Amino acid sequence: MRYISTRGAAPTLDFRGATLAGLASDGGLYVPDHWPTLSADEIAGLAGLSYVDTAVAVMAPFIGDSLSRDELRALCEQAYGRFSHAAVTPLRQLDHDQWVLELFHGPTLAFKDVALQLLGLLFERFLKDDDGAPLTIVGATSGDTGSAAIDAVAGREKIDIFMLHPAGRVSDVQRRQMTTVRAPNVHNIGIRGDFDTAQALVKAMFNDPAFSGRFRLSAVNSINWARLMAQVVYYFYAAVRLGAPGRPIAFSVPTGNFGDVFAGYVAARMGLPIERLIVATNVNDILHRALSAGDYSSATVVPTATPSMDIQVSSNFERLLFDLGDRDGAALAAQMQGFEASRAMRLTNAQHGGAAAHLASASVNADGMALAMRWAHEHAGELIDPHTAIALSAARSAAFDCPTVTLATAHPAKFPEAVERATGLSPALPARVGDLFEREEAFVTLDATFDAVSAYIAERATPRS
Ligand SMILES: *Cc1c(COP(=O)(O)O)cnc(C)c1O
Repeated sequence: MRYISTRGAAPTLDFRGATLAGLASDGGLYVPDHWPTLSADEIAGLAGLSYVDTAVAVMAPFIGDSLSRDELRALCEQAYGRFSHAAVTPLRQLDHDQWVLELFHGPTLAFKDVALQLLGLLFERFLKDDDGAPLTIVGATSGDTGSAAIDAVAGREKIDIFMLHPAGRVSDVQRRQMTTVRAPNVHNIGIRGDFDTAQALVKAMFNDPAFSGRFRLSAVNSINWARLMAQVVYYFYAAVRLGAPGRPIAFSVPTGNFGDVFAGYVAARMGLPIERLIVATNVNDILHRALSAGDYSSATVVPTATPSMDIQVSSNFERLLFDLGDRDGAALAAQMQGFEASRAMRLTNAQHGGAAAHLASASVNADGMALAMRWAHEHAGELIDPHTAIALSAARSAAFDCPTVTLATAHPAKFPEAVERATGLSPALPARVGDLFEREEAFVTLDATFDAVSAYIAERATPRS
């Protein structure tokens, strides 16, 4: 399997190369050069397999020669052995046709663990037989990604992680999930500024040739193909439990950067009978406007109770546009340059029509979200987090004539205030993270300047030899 850039002008790589590169050198994103497919018989054969066995079957074609099947299985056992539920991603039934797929049983209680726990191990494995410099991961987080990434690489060989968060602007639970991880390769930096400032500092370091030339910089956001690949697994795992390939299944996905729902699209391209993927957004509805009216134009972000969906630009949408636009990298590069210049673009007829065959979309406001949280609690006795509630609201309105699975992307205890406002109940932190408030924290707070932050990292990271 080879990986090609969505903008058509970067070298093609194998799985190992695409995992270590993250972003392609032409500014595009890596995608497989073709979609491997599973026949109906092969999909039927997944019924009853464990999560790890499903993961090996679904991911092996994407990995090619980069790992043997036994090595892949060992990494999956290690990554998913850290989940607190034996099923890794259990399904729960809310209603005759409404189901929830719980993706939050990993160490940091967010679905990002499913992909990042594996990515941390893949990095370590691929760096082991590489004589280059250690990897220096630099990222900015408004909450969930930072803690999941830190947990995934803490203590791993040949990786250092520097995670910037806006000081005083992440919740106590989110900050403590990052700052109480005590490993010598983990560096938490509070920035005196907001998330956009922290993000801009990270971009400036990547774009500064003097700084980025000295270190082997890497990113862990969802532009990394390996993250998306790991997420394809749970679509198969859930669908075969509900009757696939014998009957189609719909999924509703709380969407921000379009990584999670793109993984569902990949599952459909591989042959899984998916009725529709519902792209559920909050009032920051650029994706809903793009999919319903072909208008991809970014507006100002409105902060909501679902911060992981408060986005202006969805980086992985580019992968969908590439696949639906005849995989024409030069044409997509021109389209994306137009978007970067004007912050707006029209989808082509092929992109708009192609998307409609796979995707539906909905934008859900705060009332719809609260109503869905109350319904899940009163009707099925389940507390769900605000992000999940946005997608459940969209799933209930869509009313497909088939089982509909809402992806539950965060544990409700990560967002206790919003859950309590809607249901009157405050969800408790699970026992395994219950001592979070007793653990000691370690982080520094720095001024939001390029010099302060780059100097701090340069003193602690390992330069290229
Ligand atoms: C990251 C995140 C999302 C959005 O996922 P994308 O892959 O960026 O679309 C939704 N919900 C929660 C809780 C998240 O952490």
